Amino acid sequence: MNHTPSAAPSLAPAPLERWLTGPRFASLPARDASLPAPALSFEFFPPRTEALEQQLWTCIQRLEPLAPRFVSVTYGAGGSTQARTHAIVTRILQETSLTPAAHLTCVNATRAEIDAVARAYWEAGVRHIVALRGDVPGGGDYVPQPDGYAYAADLVAGLKRIADFEISVAAYPEVHPTALSPEADLDNLKRKLDAGATRAITNYFFEAETYLRFLDRCLAAGITAPIVPGIMPVSNFAQAARFSAMCGASVPAWLGHLFEGLDEDHETRRMVAAVVAAEQVRVLQASGIDEFHFYTLNRSDLVYAIAHILGVRPGKAAHAPA
Ligand SMILES: Cc1cc2nc3c(=O)[nH]c(=O)nc-3n(C[C@H](O)[C@H](O)[C@H](O)COP(=O)(O)OP(=O)(O)OC[C@H]3O[C@@H](n4cnc5c(N)ncnc54)[C@H](O)[C@@H]3O)c2cc1C
Repeated sequence: MNHTPSAAPSLAPAPLERWLTGPRFASLPARDASLPAPALSFEFFPPRTEALEQQLWTCIQRLEPLAPRFVSVTYGAGGSTQARTHAIVTRILQETSLTPAAHLTCVNATRAEIDAVARAYWEAGVRHIVALRGDVPGGGDYVPQPDGYAYAADLVAGLKRIADFEISVAAYPEVHPTALSPEADLDNLKRKLDAGATRAITNYFFEAETYLRFLDRCLAAGITAPIVPGIMPVSNFAQAARFSAMCGASVPAWLGHLFEGLDEDHETRRMVAAVVAAEQVRVLQASGIDEFHFYTLNRSDLVYAIAHILGVRPGKAAHAPA
């Protein structure tokens, strides 16, 4: 029996009172199953080892039935993965039903070298390029190469002179870290689209509001091309925080709290990651967004689950019109 003296009457409201006077949120609308599923695209990177290469192909095979609009393969810093990117892109073309897009960067290469890579892609049947400036390998200030393409907008124009590629470019909802100003960065995005790109893919972000406000700014600047949200399901918080500091994505405190104490608990981290990313895409979907680009990090499980939540099912190619 408990003989502790009875506590002084509390002024705090009783639980039900507290619960019923809290703010009320509308629930996210259920997706209308008669509407086409959103269009997805998936990004992969060229792995360094044979074991990781196997993991990549397992990932590609798992995601293939989701019939993404395209899948893209990154180009390592300074073009360091040129041969591997080319090999993976052409293998995707030859061995899968997927449409590959090859990332290509300006940094550390002459125009002639980049043009040769682009021509080789066109000859191999690759029709989609993600055109980027790239960063200086190992860090440091970017200085355009005199006989190179200085910025991504110049690369887009150069690619269009070579062949009628479909071109995607990068966009930064939180402004590129070295942009002179948010306005200058938006002007740059517009230049890339005016030069012939047909879509932008955003750097990842964690607050849906950040992206939605960016769309408002794009529209106000006269941009009407799709600015596809880049979604990165984060299961390794420490790594994401380090990378975010470099690429100008802010990491909200709530995200850190969600991963607190889970460093050694891989399984729970992945479940938390799925919930966070699912919530993010559900909010965007409820806001009308019907196209998503996933940074897969060459792992399919989280992306597959989130795609499923979005209404994407294997074997159904029908998705939102381009
Ligand atoms: C979806 C996506 C995919 C990516 N894939 C890769 C990849 O495969 N490989 C890789 O190495 N990196 C990749 N990156 C990273 C990217 O290369 C870096 O973020 C890089 O710093 C900028 O590339 P960009 O194409 O956006 O550059 P740009 O559009 O050229 O812009 C770069 C910076 O220069 C400024 N700028 C543009 N034009 C001018 C001008 N004329 N004068 C002065 N300033 C100017 C812009 O405002 C911006 O601050 C990717 C990024 C994203 C978002």
